Amino acid sequence: MVEYVMAPEPPASVAVVGERARFPVRRIFCVGRNYAAHAREMGQDPDREPPFFFTKPASALVAGDAEIPYPPETAQFHFEAELVVAIGTEAIACPVDQARDCVYGVAIGNDLTRRDLQSRAKDKGQPWDWGKGFDHSAVCGPIHPLATVGPLTHGRIELRLNGEIKQQGDLSELIWSIDEVISIISHSMALRPGDLIYTGTPAGVGAMQVGDLIQITVEGLGVIEHRIVAPDPRFRTAD
Ligand code: MN
Repeated sequence: MVEYVMAPEPPASVAVVGERARFPVRRIFCVGRNYAAHAREMGQDPDREPPFFFTKPASALVAGDAEIPYPPETAQFHFEAELVVAIGTEAIACPVDQARDCVYGVAIGNDLTRRDLQSRAKDKGQPWDWGKGFDHSAVCGPIHPLATVGPLTHGRIELRLNGEIKQQGDLSELIWSIDEVISIISHSMALRPGDLIYTGTPAGVGAMQVGDLIQITVEGLGVIEHRIVAPDPRFRTAD
């Protein structure tokens, strides 16, 4: 029995539809630019270049119905509606046609972004962590076990800000499909049970303010709804 000098924090976890038990989260992978229209709005050529990835710490995870504090040090706090894939079994160098076998389920997510910090990092060739992997930056709704939702090769994905549609797309528009993304990651790292993959966002990303209500729907998965609340006052210091 391992002893620790302090109590370890419990693992991050996500609710599972129809289960009392929760899905324990290990790592969070995110695909950059995986819808052509969003690649274009970010000033990139949407051709099928190899996908690229970044990660968020599991500690960044928050529930789909959480109240999310406006984060420090940003004036461009952006939403990115995404389909999230939850890995259930190990996958190493997995062929595309077997990728589905390692999926536990899918969920609706929001890849929250401090766009100004991300843009600055891009310009300077610096890592994206400060723009992408901050506290409360990985919103994930309840996971729907794959058997209950079918293949999800198409279906509407939509984000509303205070009731107004801001992002609209279809899962069929993914440049790299769910199966391809799993296969590609698994050729570089061992995917393990508990890993989450955020599969990219459609066009229309934009900024949020304190008080804003975000609603994201994915056809077949229902809706998640979260609100942006006042910043944590402990980040306000007198220097
Ligand atoms: Mn994203």
